Order: sequence, then structure tokens, then C-alpha cells
Amino acid sequence: MFEGTPRVNVFLVHCQCANCQRPSTKRVPVPRVDDAPATVDEFIEALEHSPVPFMCRHCESLIGELVGVTMEAGYAAA
Ligand SMILES: [Zn+2]
Repeated sequence: MFEGTPRVNVFLVHCQCANCQRPSTKRVPVPRVDDAPATVDEFIEALEHSPVPFMCRHCESLIGELVGVTMEAGYAAA
């Protein structure tokens, strides 16, 4: 581990609310450990096994549709 390297990857999970159709983004910090997903592809694969709980901040609906996943700028792996 290099000095100054962030200890987490921060993924942004973009969902669209099934109720009010508004987009929501959830920040999911993932510690950089051996078994943790380090790329968007690995993260999406992990989501299929353990989905991130969703709650729309506009209408509090618990049902959201996954639109996409990105990594937060500044945390992306070099
Ligand atoms: Zn909503």
C-alpha cells in the first residue's frame, strides 16, 4: 500500500425510483481489501449477490431500478 493511497473505493450506484421515476445516487464506500470489489464490473457482480438497500429520498419508495454504477472521481484506482 502506497502512502496517501485512499483506503476505500467509492462506488456510486445510480437508481431510478420505480414510484416517482426520479433518479437517485447512493454512495457506497468499499474498503480496499483482498475480497472486496475494486472495479465497477466486480462491484456490479457483488451487487447481484448482496443488493444495496434502496430508498428514494423524494418519496421514500423502497423499490428502485439499477441504472448504472460509476466510481467517484478522486477515488478511482490509478
Ligand atoms: Zn421516488
